Amino acid sequence: MLSDLDQIRQKALHALESIQDETSLEAFRIAYLGRSSPLMQVFDQLGKLAREERPAIGRRANEVKQALEAAFSTRSDTLRQAALLRSLQTERLDVTLPGRVLPLGRLHPATISLRAIVRAFADMGFQVYRSPEVETDEYNFGLLNMPPDHPARDMWDTFYTSMPEVSLRPHTSPGQIHVMRQYAPEPIRAILPGMCYRYEQINARKETQFNQLEVLAVGKNITLGDLKGTVSDFARRLFGQNIRTRFRASYFPFTEPSAEYDFECLLCNGKGCTVCAWTGWLEIGGCGMVHPIVLQNGGYDPAKFSGFAAGLGTERIMMLKHRIEDIRYFWSNDLRFLEQF
Ligand SMILES: [Zn+2]
Repeated sequence: MLSDLDQIRQKALHALESIQDETSLEAFRIAYLGRSSPLMQVFDQLGKLAREERPAIGRRANEVKQALEAAFSTRSDTLRQAALLRSLQTERLDVTLPGRVLPLGRLHPATISLRAIVRAFADMGFQVYRSPEVETDEYNFGLLNMPPDHPARDMWDTFYTSMPEVSLRPHTSPGQIHVMRQYAPEPIRAILPGMCYRYEQINARKETQFNQLEVLAVGKNITLGDLKGTVSDFARRLFGQNIRTRFRASYFPFTEPSAEYDFECLLCNGKGCTVCAWTGWLEIGGCGMVHPIVLQNGGYDPAKFSGFAAGLGTERIMMLKHRIEDIRYFWSNDLRFLEQF
């Protein structure tokens, strides 16, 4: 029995030497230290041995078991170290390789345009006022001097909602009423930027959604001269000192008198080109003196207060500046377009 144990030890240690991987190591553990291994069977049979033989055999079996466990653990450590070393060598990182360029986000061209416009007006002392994109019929039209059945309502086709008398705003003008009602009777110098929605046949010049910006000044002794000066100053701040502006008489229900204002064509400097249809002028937006009824609806006494308002399309400014010929590029999410700004 004692010599059997010596043989088991010798055989096991020999087998262990040739083991090179974790799988064979586990097979070894089952074969030599597992429950049905020859060594464990010696322990099982101890009870059947003669009483005087038991201590010597038991002691020897324990020695063999400890020796094998120690050798197993050493081998296991060696293999782990070797595997680590191997992976360090084969999977070595070359930290001198240039990194991959991460694509960085950028501002949307409409946002770039809006920020430039806001900056120009902020420098002239105007503050930004946010107003809702969903409005009641009263704010969209009624309070802007367009009672129900007023023919001017035909100028805007709206998107209605599931709530009666509530629609997406077709222009930023209802914000005039909000800002006036909040600040009356204090004077106001505000710009109201934001998304507007119209039920339109989409084409190169018309979209169902677009950013508009409303300019509003209310106070005492505000005149048409202030309006013309502000619009001209805005044009110079945005496009340089030499740009000229002009007013053409027009009609809006919420201003009186009303005008359309043009900037000198940015592309041909007024000489005439295809973009300005050989007129030398680009149409920018509408403007006028705030109608007395609108002032009254906003909480101001039209006998004491006056004001001017102007509107412009944010995307349109960007289109003129960069000669973009189709407004649909703005919301079609084509990266080839968006990455140019
Ligand atoms: Zn031109």
